[in-house]
Amino acid sequence: MIRTGLGWDLHRLVRGRRFLLGGVEIPFEKGELGHSDGDVLAHAVTDALLGAAALGDIGELYPSSDPVWKDADSLALLRSAFGKVLAAGWRLVNLDCVVICEKPRILPYREDIRASLAGVLGVDAGAVFVKGKTAEGLGPAGEGLAVEALVTALLERPDEPSRKAAGPVRDAVREN
Ligand code: MG
Repeated sequence: MIRTGLGWDLHRLVRGRRFLLGGVEIPFEKGELGHSDGDVLAHAVTDALLGAAALGDIGELYPSSDPVWKDADSLALLRSAFGKVLAAGWRLVNLDCVVICEKPRILPYREDIRASLAGVLGVDAGAVFVKGKTAEGLGPAGEGLAVEALVTALLERPDEPSRKAAGPVRDAVREN
């Protein structure tokens, strides 16, 4: 069985915060505002993985109302969520990520971000891709007020033999 998941997140960009993408700090005059460390890409990856496995979402499992997650390392949240995904029998096939912001440029940091996420998830960097896009000056991301991330995840799990045997094809054959 294969399943896809979609994750999206947005954080305000403000002075005095670090700009983190997938655990990689990028030198910039502003950074992501957030209850946790604000790593917008780590959050979108977490939601894509949890969504694909139908195991909940980041706001539900790691609520910002809980002081335990104050300034939390978002890679630790990702590791925790992915542990639940693995425990349910899933294997990660690939992630594809888009980061949307006017500045800074993402390309010089792309390989570091891919390696960081792949390391946390225990996959080859070839299974993780990251693209940076501007928003043509439009909307919060385009005006430099926010950074957004969109992520798709593909998961795979071996079919359970008992489920296969009771599948619709077998039932249809029996009826005939
Ligand atoms: Mg977030």
